[in-house]
Amino acid sequence: MKKTLVVGTGLGAITTALRLARRGYQVEMVEKYHQAGGRLNQLKKDGFTFDLGPTFFSMTYEFQEFFKDAGIDQMPFRFRELDVLYTVHFRGSEKKYRIYRDLDLLAKEFEEVEPNFKEKMERFLASAERFFHDTEYLVLKKNYDSIWHYLLTLVRVPMRHSPKLLRSVWSEMERYFESREVKEIFSLVAFFLGATPFDTPAIYTILSYTELVHDGYHNVEGGMYKIVEGLKKELDLAGVRVHYNTEIVDYKYEGNKLAALIDQNGKEWTADLFVINADAAWFRHKIFKRKKYSEQKMDKLKWTLAPFTMYLGLNTKIKDIPLHNYFLGNNFEEYSGKIFKNSIKLDQPYYYVNVVSKSDPEAAPEGCESLFVLCPVPDLRFKPDWSDRDEIASNIITDLSGRIGFDLEKHIVSQTVLTPVEWRDAFNLYKGSGLGLGHDLDQIGGFRPKNYDEAFKNVFYVGASTVPGTGLPMAVISSKLVVERITKAYGSVHT
Ligand SMILES: Cc1cc2nc3c(=O)[nH]c(=O)nc-3n(C[C@H](O)[C@H](O)[C@H](O)COP(=O)(O)OP(=O)(O)OC[C@H]3O[C@@H](n4cnc5c(N)ncnc54)[C@H](O)[C@@H]3O)c2cc1C
Repeated sequence: MKKTLVVGTGLGAITTALRLARRGYQVEMVEKYHQAGGRLNQLKKDGFTFDLGPTFFSMTYEFQEFFKDAGIDQMPFRFRELDVLYTVHFRGSEKKYRIYRDLDLLAKEFEEVEPNFKEKMERFLASAERFFHDTEYLVLKKNYDSIWHYLLTLVRVPMRHSPKLLRSVWSEMERYFESREVKEIFSLVAFFLGATPFDTPAIYTILSYTELVHDGYHNVEGGMYKIVEGLKKELDLAGVRVHYNTEIVDYKYEGNKLAALIDQNGKEWTADLFVINADAAWFRHKIFKRKKYSEQKMDKLKWTLAPFTMYLGLNTKIKDIPLHNYFLGNNFEEYSGKIFKNSIKLDQPYYYVNVVSKSDPEAAPEGCESLFVLCPVPDLRFKPDWSDRDEIASNIITDLSGRIGFDLEKHIVSQTVLTPVEWRDAFNLYKGSGLGLGHDLDQIGGFRPKNYDEAFKNVFYVGASTVPGTGLPMAVISSKLVVERITKAYGSVHT
């Protein structure tokens, strides 16, 4: 039986552990945080419950594939499809855009600003759909042994898609739509990837196809953390032990094999093979101290947005604000261009608000509300000092109060703020980057940090900064890819 040590308990780690356990591997996990889930975590405070990070996701069928592969007959949590997907508000306007999957309803939302919306949207989505289906299996869900292997695979993608490699999400939007509102709203998908539509390649307009047509968006009954609680039970059933408050800080090796990982107390963790779910670039930088991942080189990579998050407990219910909402300003291009480099003030921020207690009333005491606010901000390379955290929090609360016509300040009975500093420290996220490495063309596929180690043949990686990329469904695909690699090298005892 191959003994495997998994470092981290993010979604990529847990799904890898269960897939390996099913194949007869003996798995143990170590986690620096006090509970499982990584960024897919939960905060409980003052009687309120909050999802710490992710609030919805697409491609639910990746979870179904995982359950089948891991031999789990009964899904331990339940998806809930979102419709309305989200609402979008622009500063200074009363209008609230509801984003429906139904194109007729959606067209009504935009009838005043975008003539022939439905026709244009159908053409836009048809192009994204073709790209999605031509690449999902051919490129996305694939391991690459070299850059050549990757490039030769890309050559097989139909030529008609090549302009998407050269354009940005924003320029793709401009080819189909005229109104500022439509272009800004449907290019928000770039922010879901932790970047702006101006520097995200147009290939990611596939996210508009996945949200509006393919599988839509889902959350989970009882809150997103039910995913982790459910999978944790499966880990227990599979005999996988998890050790919390255990941070790997060093290593020992023999020749081309990793012999042990060493935690903060000096304890040595030995195994036949190791799967690293800590950020794949960060681990090579911080623990293995590889030259290719020196701080100078890491700083030159493109990292995704850092989160500034707030968790607010209110002693009352609020009306007129549904589950998922985006609050945008009216300087989209300027704001997008400057926010990540810290060259714009955060006094009129763009942010996302999730009122989790609207869909899961048990997240707040009776008559109360739980609010999660996520504001994308510069990472610690560009803004190392967050001593202005209270001021930023207060700006957002004042702005939101004005825009929903409700004085939130008076009703806040619980308030927690996490800046990129806390996000970095909680999960070892490089300079506080929330979604890991960016998805620029030179950082995806064969160019992304590999899911196997360059020096130690018994070390593998899973999660957001290795293939294929960030987000919950990608973490599940990442576990499928790494398990493919491991079983190729070590075989399976039984399936
Ligand atoms: C604010 C926010 C909102 C998000 N919203 C969404 C969303 O709505 N939908 C969506 O699909 N995705 C969302 N994401 C992205 C999603 O959360 C991640 O892509 C996904 O959870 C990453 O999973 P992972 O497998 O890479 O592991 P991670 O979640 O990164 O977990 C890695 C684990 O390794 C542990 N670790 C690190 N270093 C060590 C060490 N040295 N020793 C021991 N343990 C260590 C960490 O503590 C952590 O628990 C969001 C992310 C953030 C930050």
